[in-house]
Amino acid sequence: MPKSNAQRRALVVGAGIAGLTSAWWLERAGWDVSVVEKAPSFRAGGYMIDFFGPGHEVARRMGLLPALEARRAPISSVTSVDSSGRRRAEISASAYEAVADGVISLLRGDLASVIRDDLRAPIRFGATVSAVGDDGRVTFPDGSSDEFDLVVGADGVHSRVRELVFGPPSSFVRYLGHHTAAFSFQDAELSARIGHRYQMLTVPHRMIGCYAVRDGAMAALLLYRSDSPELPADPASALRERFGDLGWVAPSLLSVVPDDVYYDEVSQVDMPMWHRGKVVLVGDACGAVSLFAGHGASLAMTGACVLVEELSAGAEGAFERYQGRVKPAVTHTQEFGRRFIGWMAPSSAWRISLRDMAFRLSGLPVVRNLIRGSVAPDVDGVLTAGREPSR
Ligand SMILES: Cc1cc2nc3c(=O)[nH]c(=O)nc-3n(C[C@H](O)[C@H](O)[C@H](O)COP(=O)(O)OP(=O)(O)OC[C@H]3O[C@@H](n4cnc5c(N)ncnc54)[C@H](O)[C@@H]3O)c2cc1C
Repeated sequence: MPKSNAQRRALVVGAGIAGLTSAWWLERAGWDVSVVEKAPSFRAGGYMIDFFGPGHEVARRMGLLPALEARRAPISSVTSVDSSGRRRAEISASAYEAVADGVISLLRGDLASVIRDDLRAPIRFGATVSAVGDDGRVTFPDGSSDEFDLVVGADGVHSRVRELVFGPPSSFVRYLGHHTAAFSFQDAELSARIGHRYQMLTVPHRMIGCYAVRDGAMAALLLYRSDSPELPADPASALRERFGDLGWVAPSLLSVVPDDVYYDEVSQVDMPMWHRGKVVLVGDACGAVSLFAGHGASLAMTGACVLVEELSAGAEGAFERYQGRVKPAVTHTQEFGRRFIGWMAPSSAWRISLRDMAFRLSGLPVVRNLIRGSVAPDVDGVLTAGREPSR
């Protein structure tokens, strides 16, 4: 006799956006869910994300929009400044919202914590997997093993599950020629000076941005071109070397880079098959679109929702239907992200001026439409293809 959902056991690897959302929908669908997360404790804070598109609709279905709204960062504009901090160009929050329907800007950690707070499944921190079979047998680092009806690899762009079951990163990871870093820190004086403008200084191939978060906290984002995806042994020193010649708030930011700074190559993940046997990948693990595309969290939540929707519709062929619905949106967003590199990290002074001119003219409907095409790939259809799973 086939097992009912209540008897079915799922292991979710990774308590990020995709993993938490998968666990949320799976437990609502009656699965017995466990989550393992490599980090020693919950990762709060992080970098600012713009959350909109189909993920916003998934959050509405989960009843999480009020909690997300409460964590909305009060960004009033995106401002391009020169090396003395003088304003070059600005796009107001209202103009931005007009091109990015329903956008909520918030910290990645705030999005994750809102999902986690509504989850009952246990999360084991400081835990991972050391072997995963496509028959659902999982071995843990302490040597113990267990068998699951479903293993969800939601462990991000450097997914261990992907490597164990599908192959090495070199087969799937596409490097986009940049490194990025993000961190937050307390500085009441700087926070008051920068205010709720997302301010950024761009020079060819390099960008440094910062914004006030709340209660005197600041968040910083750095991005630069690098021919090699290889990460430096000491990210803080590498950042000081790369950005040390810049003016504005760069010296202040570089003096407070924490040892545990988020630092990574910017890449996309492109794989022909997102599932094998009882193992399925979601989010960045199978379809990272990169910060250039900016819809990764939204697509991670969408993928998780569609996966459980299709599992609930019938186990037979569920993974194929899930991939068939979500992968085209991911591929489309990845193409869009590669085109957006020139917007976020322009390669010349001329291109920086062109982008700033678009900011300045963003009040004009014709320019707004052009920007809309540049900030938002059209992927809303990915959810309408399916049914709304019951809560
Ligand atoms: C600077 C920056 C800006 C971005 N801006 C936006 C934006 O504006 N809008 C947007 O929608 N998206 C944005 N993104 C992308 C978005 O953050 C990601 O696409 C999204 O977080 C992917 O979710 P995920 O759960 O797949 O991966 P992650 O959020 O990376 O979560 C993976 C989790 O798995 C855990 N893990 C890793 N390895 C293991 C292991 N071996 N065992 C157990 N656990 C493991 C990790 O610790 C982590 O908790 C941005 C990304 C960056 C870097």
